[in-house]
Amino acid sequence: MRRSILRRTCARRFRAPPNHPVNYDASNVFARILRREIPARLLHEDHQCVAFADVAPQAPVHFLVIPKRAIARLADADESDKALLGHLLWAAAEVAKKLGIANDGFRVVINNGSNAGQSVFHLHVHVLAGRSFGWPPG
Ligand code: AMP
Repeated sequence: MRRSILRRTCARRFRAPPNHPVNYDASNVFARILRREIPARLLHEDHQCVAFADVAPQAPVHFLVIPKRAIARLADADESDKALLGHLLWAAAEVAKKLGIANDGFRVVINNGSNAGQSVFHLHVHVLAGRSFGWPPG
């Protein structure tokens, strides 16, 4: 009983605000991680974001930084999200430093939309390290 009330409360909290142009689907996997419905290997958490290991790493180090706020794509962030977007990059660098990869080089990627490879529609910053990366990216 208590658990279902909690789940409904959390689902409401992560529903997108009405001014978002793309519908935010609160059942996406990252929203579920934020609600602690599925596990993740957490690397960082603060009042605005969470960082956790990618479940299918594309490099020896691969983690994701996601906002707690429900934003589907980078393109759905609005002017009021400017500080939050900066915070996500700050958190990415903080976790990279904590993992000891900051000076070896790391790549930061945001896929925006399915044509760019986005498969989970909750904004996320990929951080990859531990191998060399080609340019231009594939
Ligand atoms: P993108 O293709 O840019 O949307 O990236 C989505 C990323 O989320 C991929 O790298 C997936 O491996 C990762 N991912 C999907 N499900 C999980 C999960 N449950 N825990 C951690 N990472 C996940």
